[in-house]
Amino acid sequence: PELTTARLPETAARRYGDRVAFVLGDTTLTYAEFGSRTGCFAAALHGAGIGRGDVVLIHLTNGIEFVVAYYGSLRAGATVSLVNPIQPVAGLRHQLCDTAARAVVTQAAQYEDAAAAAAGTAVELTIVHRPAGASAARSPHSGGVVDYDEFVSGAPVEYTCLDVTGDEVAHLAYTGGTTGVSKGVRVLHRNIVANLAQTMMARSGLTLVREPDGLIGFADRVREPSWDFGLGTDVSIVVSPLFHAHALIGMNTQLLAGATNVFAGRFTPAGMLELIERHRVTAIAGSPAMWHALTAHPDAVRRDLTSVRLVTSGAAPIDLSTLAALRATFPRARVGEGYGMTEATALVTGSPMIGRYPAKDGSVGVPMFDTEVRVRALDGSGAVLGANEPGTLWVRGPQVAAGYLNRPDETAQQFVDGWLDTGDVGHIDEDGFVFISDRIKDMLIYKGYNVYPREIEEVLLAHPGVHSVAVVGRATAGVGEEPVGFVVPAPGSRVAPEELMDFIAAQVLPYKKLREVVLLDELPITPTGKIVKAALRERLREQVA
Ligand code: ATP
Ligand code: MG
Repeated sequence: PELTTARLPETAARRYGDRVAFVLGDTTLTYAEFGSRTGCFAAALHGAGIGRGDVVLIHLTNGIEFVVAYYGSLRAGATVSLVNPIQPVAGLRHQLCDTAARAVVTQAAQYEDAAAAAAGTAVELTIVHRPAGASAARSPHSGGVVDYDEFVSGAPVEYTCLDVTGDEVAHLAYTGGTTGVSKGVRVLHRNIVANLAQTMMARSGLTLVREPDGLIGFADRVREPSWDFGLGTDVSIVVSPLFHAHALIGMNTQLLAGATNVFAGRFTPAGMLELIERHRVTAIAGSPAMWHALTAHPDAVRRDLTSVRLVTSGAAPIDLSTLAALRATFPRARVGEGYGMTEATALVTGSPMIGRYPAKDGSVGVPMFDTEVRVRALDGSGAVLGANEPGTLWVRGPQVAAGYLNRPDETAQQFVDGWLDTGDVGHIDEDGFVFISDRIKDMLIYKGYNVYPREIEEVLLAHPGVHSVAVVGRATAGVGEEPVGFVVPAPGSRVAPEELMDFIAAQVLPYKKLREVVLLDELPITPTGKIVKAALRERLREQVA
């Protein structure tokens, strides 16, 4: 049998036993309990006739039930489908049909939506989690609706894990939907193990091996005396939504490393800073939007944050001033960036955290182990470019997934001969560090010149009157698209649009000048911390119409 993440709960239970794996408010779960609960969940699914190849849709917010259902389903050989739990009924229904899900795991607050969406689909079993104290409105097994806790506790503890193979689909993760319709990606067990091994290697210098009994072991420690491998000692915060591949795949690393994972609930800067101090948190991953809010909060200087040793940013570009603020806020931490996408399981590149550390600011780091990144010409010729030349980034590696679900045309377009078209523009410098300029879809062409909005955004963010910013193109007859800036002023600032336009004009080439600045109270942001530029472009179109 191959090494798969289906064996992760048993591996972690054996290694870390009584250590606390999860904390949510006053509730904790040890690694041993995590091992047995996921085993029970798998056994219960098996008892309900759901197993290998069947799809289980997880419709839960972040929490212990989510991780138990996720790893429990993998242990049963099932494929997990992930969804934003606040998805409206129509979207949920579309996804249930798209994936042909046979079971849904939901929670009381969303139950009505789940039931409405599941009516008439292939769903046979709905598992509902209710908060402690709430009465189970329906008895187990009536009409295929069961109570989550009864479902898990009614199952035998002893359950032999199914030996799934690397080529089976572990989960169907949906892309962020930042540039259009969110697409399901078929992520195989071997993709996930590869990305886990790559992350462990980049972060700790550890190589994964398969132990004789199929569990996951370590080999080859890269010896760096000053570096803490963090096995069985890290305390991490879970703040990004687990229905999104980045956070979920990050969870694998935390579990294999035996970290204690503290669920933060809904993100607020003050709440998060308080949690870091209270739990002596050592490692946190987050989005630039989150880091921006956290470092700007007055509590950032009042709390004791010296326990933090590892800080990573990903999912969207981080600006240099926020990066500098991160270093100031977490003086003892190594700070780095990760770059990736759902189509590549999660991570493609990362700042070196050992060996070649420190990172190069502005770069998303170097390709993960066994991963190649190529830059191809933007003119469509497909020519492979050399160092420092900007073009489209293509990626090849064991973490590149098996394609989209039910979208053969888009799969054929973006997954070509083992290479994945990332849709991002960037370059690789002479030392092999990767830099992202922007998404191709966000780039605009003004009188034949390529304009990368991100470059203009970086300049604007350095203005003290600016809190956050997004630059998008406005279709304009005769010139193509001209850059327009949407700006959220810094608290208390009375900055005028004209002042910002002059500020930009003084620092960039004339064709990159902003033709208009619109002040907003806030920017539209996805749950994973990305600015929805499509919504801003829509506003500009309405303005013209
Ligand atoms: P969709 O593909 O549905 O439009 P999405 O691309 O946002 O949505 P994800 O797979 O979640 O969906 O995100 C991957 C994208 O996020 C990358 O292609 C890249 O544009 C952006 N990204 C991720 N990490 C970084 C980073 N560190 N720096 C810059 N951009 C990043
Ligand atoms: Mg994408």
